[in-house]
Amino acid sequence: MRPAWHPDVRAFDVYEAAGGEPVARFYLDLFPRPGKYKGAMQDTMRPGRRLPDRSWQQPVSVLVANMTRPAAGRPSLLRHIELVTLFHEFGHVLHDTLTKAEHLRYAGTETERDFVEAPSQMLEHWCWEPAVLSGFARHYQSGQPLPDKLLAGLIAAKNVSSGILTMLMLARSTLDLAYHSAGYRGDSTATLAGVYAQHGLRHMEGTHLQSGFIHLFGYDAAYYGYLWSQVVGDDMYTRFEAAGPLDPATGAAYRRTVLERGGTTDANQMVRDFLGRSPSSAAFLRGIGLTGAA
Ligand SMILES: [Zn+2]
Repeated sequence: MRPAWHPDVRAFDVYEAAGGEPVARFYLDLFPRPGKYKGAMQDTMRPGRRLPDRSWQQPVSVLVANMTRPAAGRPSLLRHIELVTLFHEFGHVLHDTLTKAEHLRYAGTETERDFVEAPSQMLEHWCWEPAVLSGFARHYQSGQPLPDKLLAGLIAAKNVSSGILTMLMLARSTLDLAYHSAGYRGDSTATLAGVYAQHGLRHMEGTHLQSGFIHLFGYDAAYYGYLWSQVVGDDMYTRFEAAGPLDPATGAAYRRTVLERGGTTDANQMVRDFLGRSPSSAAFLRGIGLTGAA
């Protein structure tokens, strides 16, 4: 066991398939405990980078979550949404783990703010793939794989409320941009009501949603990056859709053209290099059920 800050935490060293020295390490801190951060997140503990003596500093990252703790005779049984969260955060871990950027300013997740979520948004697609789920999603007592009918039901329900959720994301992105416009001195609630009306949403009189909108701080006019990253992530996934989600050659190409480069190359260029074409929003529109089959 590698040492960690709590007995619940597990450390993993990452090796190339060919072996050799570990290239990175990540920690999984998955269960709740008093005083711990309540949500799910990934963080860079030590970025990969070239040191002044030309040696390579191995990246170390952590995935923090609050999954159901295993109990006597009952393992931690993840809901599908928890699985999606786990894959999402692991997308950030992969980004930090596989970086080959020389300078820490561009290491792994240090990309443009409106691209950083794309590798994670993309990895969420694996949670909906029968070929992936059949590898581990089994009944904890009988060992039976997830029934086809159950998975088909999950996929069929994927786009419930996708319209309203997307409009909410658009409204909040627009609001974030409005508040951060140069010289903005408006009434923040009136601005909110106006933006909501513009998006076909109703602002409830007497409420102040903006006071609990934590992404207004830190993201500062870049909240739209979540939705934009989804557009980019869905687009990148089309190559895996064509080749199969577990195709090693496609995975290696993705690693080389996107993850290894961190923020050293313009995100648009990385997407072009991986897809071999110009970026497109078609897969995103299909994914939320606006066009064709999801
Ligand atoms: Zn994320």
